[in-house]
Amino acid sequence: MLKKDEQYVWHSMKPYNPEATLVVKKAKGSWITDNRGKTYLDAMAGLYCVNVGYGRHELAEAAYEQLNNLAYYPLTQTHEPAIKLAEKLNEMLDDEYVVFFSNSGSEANETAFKVARQYHQQKGEHSRYKFISRYRAYHGNTAGSLAATGQAQRKYKYEPLAPGFIHVAPPDSYRMNENANDPKELESVKSIDRAMTWELSETVAGVIMEPIITGGGVLMPPNNYMSGVKEVCEKHGALFIVDEVICGFGRTGEAFGFMNYGVKPDIISMAKGITSAYLPLSATAVRREIYEAFIGSEEYEYFRHVNTFGGNPTACALALKNLEIMEKEKLFDRSKEVGNRLLNELQSILQDHPYVGDVRGKGLLIGLELVSDKETKEPLESRLVNQVISICKENGLIIGKNGATVAGYNNVIILSPPLTIGKEDIEFLIKTLVDALQKIK
Ligand code: PMP
Repeated sequence: MLKKDEQYVWHSMKPYNPEATLVVKKAKGSWITDNRGKTYLDAMAGLYCVNVGYGRHELAEAAYEQLNNLAYYPLTQTHEPAIKLAEKLNEMLDDEYVVFFSNSGSEANETAFKVARQYHQQKGEHSRYKFISRYRAYHGNTAGSLAATGQAQRKYKYEPLAPGFIHVAPPDSYRMNENANDPKELESVKSIDRAMTWELSETVAGVIMEPIITGGGVLMPPNNYMSGVKEVCEKHGALFIVDEVICGFGRTGEAFGFMNYGVKPDIISMAKGITSAYLPLSATAVRREIYEAFIGSEEYEYFRHVNTFGGNPTACALALKNLEIMEKEKLFDRSKEVGNRLLNELQSILQDHPYVGDVRGKGLLIGLELVSDKETKEPLESRLVNQVISICKENGLIIGKNGATVAGYNNVIILSPPLTIGKEDIEFLIKTLVDALQKIK
């Protein structure tokens, strides 16, 4: 299989490396099994957001039933699964949003950018086209979403990308240690305010951010950061767009990541966890009053954006069942409780470890920042970070690290198991990870 894989399959990012590649055959709960029968606890499942765990028959059955009744119809007309799912998302968002469906997180963000630009135009503000996003954030692989991404290594081979994306430094509680009662006094909020002023407010369409930058290293913002950014957006007339592609659907212990910070976004993009990654589906939820700017306009001024597979009945039916499971099993609360326990335990076990600079996170999204010197916070060399990952893998544990940020800063181990992970599996995770951290040299 690996030989054929080498011949035919182009994997993302890494050059082909048979030693590091598993032929994954099946999965159940938090565990995957390869074609040799070896099992691994998948503590990286949260990066794809398999939130309800693998092998849920209820999800397979929901999809099967829908495939037999109405496998596909586009949303040029409408159908029950899409209507019910949009209604359900409204209930979860606890406000009035209108939902546009697509198939991936990248597309959900791309849709958000188009909605925001056209919204300002519908209101006669034709000069607003720029977006402010943060370095280290990841927003997707398409021209606009990659332009919004703040990770140069993913971008520079493909530039020029979509113009009009401006980056500012993200908050980072480990390296910046910001603190202010008035959120407008936070340096990371001020940098957005200044960027808007210097770019001219009337050219800025919106700001996009993940509640917690995940792929870029689980960067924790101060608790009042998001509300500060929202205020700045209001001051400058820009829309506040929140990318919930990873944080959404319980990862951080709330239905959506922004709910930890008491803000109401104008536009919310979501994907992955909406189906627990069982089928591709994404959504862009837009506040009703923004949507209303598109209503009653001349036909040529409608939202000119279509998507063949977005919101297809099968993916929507599966998503509905997925959300039902999350509710029934109280997985958001579980993420908070189990996540807190895991965080506290790791913090206490690893506090004297010479390479563990910081253990942080929210819910079942946890980052361990590895450094060679705890005083200077010099990032640990990649060779040693990779050793931790491969020792864990040898011992049956899959963990992740932050993506291609900037050479030298790929030093954050990411833990994000399914929200259903059991107590014994958490113990296995801790033991295996701590053992691996003792062995690196
Ligand atoms: N936004 C965030 C925060 C993500 O983590 C990702 C994917 N890792 C995306 C957007 C893009 O999603 P997709 O890969 O489904 O296009």
